[in-house]
Amino acid sequence: MNLISNESLQPFDFILFGGTGDLSIRKLIPSLYFRHCEQQLPEDGRIIGVGRTDYDSDGFRNMLNESVREHIEEADFDEGSWQAFLQRVHYCAVDVSDVGSYKPLIEILAGREEEVRVFYLSVAPSLFTAITNGVHEAGLITEKSRVTLEKPLGRDQESAEAINNSLSAVFKEEQIYRIDHYLGKETVQNLLALRFGNALFEPLWRSERISDVQITIAESLGVEGRGGFYDQTGALRDMVQNHLLQLLVIIAMEPPVSIDPDAVRDEKIKVLRALKPLRGIDAVENSVRGQYKAGAYGDGPVPGYLEGEDVPDDSNTETFVALRAEIGSWRWEGVPFFLRTGKRMESKTTEIVINFRKVPHSIFDTADGMSTPNQLIIRLQPEESIRMRIYVKAWGDDIQLQPVYLNLDFNDVFQKRKMIAYERLLLDVIRGNPTLFMRRDEVAAAWAWIDPIRQAWEQFQYPAKGYTAGTWGPSAANALISRDGLRWNED
Ligand code: NAP
Repeated sequence: MNLISNESLQPFDFILFGGTGDLSIRKLIPSLYFRHCEQQLPEDGRIIGVGRTDYDSDGFRNMLNESVREHIEEADFDEGSWQAFLQRVHYCAVDVSDVGSYKPLIEILAGREEEVRVFYLSVAPSLFTAITNGVHEAGLITEKSRVTLEKPLGRDQESAEAINNSLSAVFKEEQIYRIDHYLGKETVQNLLALRFGNALFEPLWRSERISDVQITIAESLGVEGRGGFYDQTGALRDMVQNHLLQLLVIIAMEPPVSIDPDAVRDEKIKVLRALKPLRGIDAVENSVRGQYKAGAYGDGPVPGYLEGEDVPDDSNTETFVALRAEIGSWRWEGVPFFLRTGKRMESKTTEIVINFRKVPHSIFDTADGMSTPNQLIIRLQPEESIRMRIYVKAWGDDIQLQPVYLNLDFNDVFQKRKMIAYERLLLDVIRGNPTLFMRRDEVAAAWAWIDPIRQAWEQFQYPAKGYTAGTWGPSAANALISRDGLRWNED
């Protein structure tokens, strides 16, 4: 299966709105640098940073020189390649809310109408419409133009629709790339390879063989100075609507007829539409909201959410959410999907756990009573790996079983630098391959499932339960999963 085409890129202009911002410095510029080092960028590929800050191109390069390097491992950094990379980089100071200020961008793009043109919007969503209108009015949208949007795409279905409407007023749907960087992770794509490149798993991938699926995205950081933004957002909007649902969809989708973008996305949307709605009291009973309190990590105490900058004293915003979801389909009827995400949790971990059913009748004694069935554990963070838990005979005379893991650690197997998830996605945008990007109807379907949950929380004034920073969230999350006779995988 070839998800990522190796065809070489055409000359391009990559216009990075928010080029001076945090995401650009930590992820986007390093991603492009690595692709430059892999010689995947054509000679005539330019990166044009855009922001209000008053740099010229040299000033912008100097800023990158000072700020980006700390985000690249020393072993992966090569001074000569970096300096050559910087020659691709340019800068235009534009205040995107002022249509009169696009002149420098118009000038730098003049005469390059035939090249691929990517407008990458790494800015607050409140600026999306100003930018799409701005580049339209400045006459910058060409046949070969694409626009890429960072999450969050709206705060609910209605606001997402408004953004999508303003986008579609100036771009065709096939020019719009809604990014979810989780889909750029090697392991997520490997999940597709595992499922659809091996006949082995298909007969097992159904309710007769799988008891439950658990997806956890746990962060150890708190809101880190983004309290104002976060308090208006919360974990449900920030993590579940996009990353968690995207992972669920990749696990649950039917095999697409091909790897063509729309074949894959047609199957993904069917899963979103098959999610059983969680409304009213049903939503409350199948969800847990949490908010971290002060706690401690190895290196010392950390403050609680309410003590953060710009967070109202009486905020009820959730920094943790756990959900029990079900998919109404022949394949998945009766299999609970547990989704969980939180800030200030015990460790930074992203993993998908597929728990298989127990053997119908055990003839063996087991060291652990075979309390945990076979598991497939797909880990995205901190390391990317796939592990299969199986039972073997314990060493010795007795026939007693013990669990062991078949391990596939990608770093060990491929001995490669760990890629930034954005690397392939940015190249896909330039290349014009939208397979790993969200289509408009996908975004709408995800919000359509999320909105009633939030509405139910409001209707029932469902409180965010406190949990100590450095733990796995409120105890209610354990109660949620234990109703099914299960427990979270926290090995
Ligand atoms: P940030 O550090 O606050 O950067 C915002 C950028 O927007 C700056 O480059 C700023 O440039 C530019 N900007 C603001 N107003 C402008 C205007 N009127 N005209 C032109 N440029 C303007 O934000 P960020 O953390 O990089 O996040 C960017 C986007 O990515 C957001 O939508 C965020 O939700 C999303 N995101 C971020 C992360 C992350 O890890 N940071 C992860 C996922 C998604 P000047 O200051 O030079 O004007």
